[in-house]
Amino acid sequence: MPRKRPSAEEFEAGLRAGDRVTLSRAITLAESRLASDRHLAQEVMARVLPRTGGARRIGLTGVPGAGKSTTIEALGVWLVERGHKVAVLAIDPSSTRHGGSILGDKTRMHRLSALEDAYIRPSPTSGVLGGVARRTREAMVLCEAAGFDVIIVESVGVGQSEAELAHLVDCVLLLLVPGAGDELQGIKRGIVEIADVMVVNKADGDALKAARRAASDYRHALRMLPASTPGWKTPVLTASAAEGTGLAETWQAIEDHRAHMEESGELERRRDAQQLGWLRQQVEEAVLEAFHGRPGVAEALAEARKAVHEHTATVPQAAEAVLRAGFGAADAPSAT
Ligand code: GDP
Repeated sequence: MPRKRPSAEEFEAGLRAGDRVTLSRAITLAESRLASDRHLAQEVMARVLPRTGGARRIGLTGVPGAGKSTTIEALGVWLVERGHKVAVLAIDPSSTRHGGSILGDKTRMHRLSALEDAYIRPSPTSGVLGGVARRTREAMVLCEAAGFDVIIVESVGVGQSEAELAHLVDCVLLLLVPGAGDELQGIKRGIVEIADVMVVNKADGDALKAARRAASDYRHALRMLPASTPGWKTPVLTASAAEGTGLAETWQAIEDHRAHMEESGELERRRDAQQLGWLRQQVEEAVLEAFHGRPGVAEALAEARKAVHEHTATVPQAAEAVLRAGFGAADAPSAT
């Protein structure tokens, strides 16, 4: 049944009351590309922003199959049992093609999703590098406005999204799996470098020994890498999301990292850099969209594609034609 769209005041009141239907609608609004939705979304953000920023913003990354959703479920339930309100901005596996197996979409985090104090928002990641959705930042702020004090942003650690994730959250948790041989081989160095906490998962059964060895290898390897956060030594823990071991230690490491960030002034510095990144992203997105919306640009782009494909123009020539179509011959920036 279609409902009337709430006003900015109603959105704010609903969020303040912790109403999850309002929260879902607010995130959908923030994700919308419609100009009228945008204005309302901005108004909602302006109203709630001053009350936000206090949550633990945690990024969780790791290769497909590392145990991200099992970990979020176990840690999330553990946190809710201790009085936290946990929001998860999860990857929607049905929208992600990452080469790995797509595991149990329907059963993902079912225990956590049944809890009153947990909120799980699967985000479509299509068209986004690596797996952090376009409006994750806004979604995170809206979750905070709705009273969630722990926000977990899930990302597929396939090597492109790690910088993006570090720009969104305060603490990056990298989930690893024990494997044979050189432990750093299977994982992109870039991810290891931004990890504030590393957890070797699946430390259970026959894999327990291998997990401990892997943790020790990682500790060793980390000595040769720059710190993810100035003055911080990234701890490498072992855990079993399946058996629920290592959860307290993982949370403690996240809290220790938080304390270090606050004491060193790094939290403020990082948040400030994130705000500036957000500003740049907003301007650049708006400029790009405005450009593509100009009359003649879509046609010029189609023609340029054809010309490049058929080798009737060089790429710089084709690009210039598109720019001229959008800006006019006199104002077009040079493509070369
Ligand atoms: P994701 O792709 O990173 O989200 O990984 P999943 O959480 O879906 O887990 C992938 C597979 O590993 C599933 O079959 C899980 O049951 C299994 N798994 C996850 N955590 C553990 C663990 O701690 N121990 C063991 N033995 N298996 C695990």
